[in-house]
Parts: sequence; C-alpha cells; structure tokens
Amino acid sequence: MKYVILVGDGMGDLPVAELNNRTPLEAAETPFLDALCRRGELFLTRTIPAGYPPGSDVANLSLLGYKPEEYYTGRAPLEAAAMGITLGPEQTAFRCNLVTLNHSQDDQVHMIDYSAGHISSEESHQLITALEAGCANDMFHFHPGVSYRHILLVEGDYPQMNTVPPHDFTGQEVTEPWARYHSHFQWQALVDKATTILAAHPVNISRIAAGKNPANGIWLWGEGKLPTMSTLTERFGLHGSLISAVDLLKGLGINAGLAIINVPGATGYLDTNYTGKAQAALDSLRSQDFVFVHVEAPDEAGHQGLLTEKIQAIEDFDRQIVGPILHGLQQSGEDFRMIATMDHFTPLCLRTHTDSPVPTILFDSRQAKPGCGLPFSEQAAEAEDKRLHNSIANGELLMEKLLERRKHG
Ligand SMILES: [Zn+2]
Repeated sequence: MKYVILVGDGMGDLPVAELNNRTPLEAAETPFLDALCRRGELFLTRTIPAGYPPGSDVANLSLLGYKPEEYYTGRAPLEAAAMGITLGPEQTAFRCNLVTLNHSQDDQVHMIDYSAGHISSEESHQLITALEAGCANDMFHFHPGVSYRHILLVEGDYPQMNTVPPHDFTGQEVTEPWARYHSHFQWQALVDKATTILAAHPVNISRIAAGKNPANGIWLWGEGKLPTMSTLTERFGLHGSLISAVDLLKGLGINAGLAIINVPGATGYLDTNYTGKAQAALDSLRSQDFVFVHVEAPDEAGHQGLLTEKIQAIEDFDRQIVGPILHGLQQSGEDFRMIATMDHFTPLCLRTHTDSPVPTILFDSRQAKPGCGLPFSEQAAEAEDKRLHNSIANGELLMEKLLERRKHG
C-alpha cells in the first residue's frame, strides 16, 4: 500500500461576489479533485488547534500527523533546519524578514512590503552579509536564506518580546509591534543598527533608483527552540519523502524524518515546476511507502488578493499534481490511499490565513465503500459534516485514518 498527501496551500476560501458567491475552489475546474472526492470520503480536518495562530507551520505540522500542542515550538527553527542550521539546546532561531517600512514624520511606522519586493537572493545575501559584519556579537548572528527570508540565531537567554508575522500587516500601520523591538536595549541596538546599515547599502540605493521597494528594515518573528519530534518511521513505521519549494515545509519534513526531494524549478509561485514535482513524487513511491507533496501557489495568490491567479493556482494543482500522480499510481497497479487537502484557508478578502477546519478528501484505490458523490468544495465538506458528523479533530487522527493504523506508543 502506498500513502500520499497532496496539499494546496491556502486553497480554502470564502464565497466571492464576483464568482456569484462561489469560492475559488468551486469556480475552478478541478476534474481530478472532483473525481477523487466523488469516489472517496469528504470531511473537515481541524489543522489549527484552538488558540494557535493559523500559520502554515502549525497547519502542515498537523497534516504530517503531529499535534501542534505537543510538538510546535515556532516557525523559525523549522526553516533553520531546512537551511542546514542545527540549533543547539541554548539557541533560539528567529525568522528575519527583509521588509520595506515607511517611517513617517510623526513616528508612525507602516509595513509597505513584508518581502521587500521579493528581493533576489543575490541582493539579499549582500545585505545579510553586511548585517552580520556590522551587528553580530556574542548574542546575535545572521544566516542568509532565500529572497527576503533569513534567520537570526540568538545565543542563550534573551529579553522576551511578543512578535507578529509581517505578512499579516501588508499596507498597515505597525507602529506598536515595531515599538516592541525597542522594549529592551539589546534588541533596540540590533534593530536600529540594522536599519542604519540597510539605509546606506548600495543594494538599496540601486533598488530605490530602479523604483523597487528597498529592504530598509529587519522584522524578527516566528522564534523558537529546536523541536523534539520523533520521526514518522518511529511513530508509524512509515518511510517517505516530502516535496515542496518552501523551506518551512522542508524543515518540517526533516524533523519528521522524511527525505527531502528538491525539484529543480520548484519556486512556490505560479511558474513552479509542477511536472517535475509530480514525477518526483511517483519516482519516490517506487522505493518508499509515503509521499507528501506541497504546492504553495494558491496561498501566495490569496495573500496578494488575486482572484484569477488563485483560481489558476488551484487548476494547476489539480491538473498538474493531482491528475498525474493519480494516473501514475493507477498505472503502477499498486494499491494506494490518497489525501488531497489544504493546510488552512487564505481568503482573498482577508489576504491572510484563517483557522477554519479544512475540506479533506480521502480516496482509497480499493474503493471498498461507496464515495460521497460530491465535487470537492468547502460547502460540500460542510454538508458532509452536517450529515455524518465525520470531522477529524487533529492531524494525528488524520494520519491514523490515512494509514489505517495507530501510532506506536
Ligand atoms: Zn499555508
């Protein structure tokens, strides 16, 4: 038996007036998801426990079969793992975004762009190198990542502060969360020095001259220590791989003991190498029993509030990931159980995540039971829940349902 989980990040949405009150998932043409759904089980899965922020970190940790209440420490240590940084027990990782801020005369701060115009890695590495040279000390060290996404490692005890993700504040005032970085002299010294270095850096001077958003601030968030997760092999006897363009997902996979397959041209955007991802998933299943495939594009479109792009991203996920993997498995003649779902909703009208339980399809190639007969949508999953009360309370139960076995110990 082969086991597959396919995740369209942030695919869930609310009814959109322009779509005659359908959701993007309802409006998109998704013949493969619909076929799986009609012939499979449809239910809601709670990926975000009550009181947790509805992040991709918490949600995908759930989809990998781990209860966030037991395993979640923060987003940054997962991304650090994907970047090859091994945290010591005394270290804390913070995610360090390069962002575009506007400081107005009356000391108001606005988040213009959480990604500094999706700055290139070539440019951002020069900036992070300058920050490490100018700001690092016994306590703080910068590690370059991809584009606007970097890591700050903090040694030992540090003054606590509540941090917030910058992508939740696009175009909004952030005077109050920005002030938190000035709540203690060690943070204040770091953030102010970084701001000065960034303002004077040639990379930013050229970006401004070219009409691009400069990376004129650092934004620290998502902090946490090394999580202690037993692997999926230890918990379920499962051997598998994870395919994603996103460091956070790769870090989750590493901590879950999965092999990380890096597919050339996997970008996380609409232009991602879908064919390569689907083929890599099928190839990995020849020698292993589990694969987790994550597609980022619907979430990106949701954050940007782009309706056409979101529909396109869902249709691409259906046609280029779900379809080929389904077809390949059917051709192989192997029995398989497949989940197709999303980690959370990213409604276009909100441009950020919500914690609604996510519509989830479970399809079994043996088809012992009759299917639900419905196409895949948020509304259909809710209707099934009303009819059957079949929602799944957490990711661990979802994994047990997929595998038809309980975790060991
Ligand atoms: Zn997500």
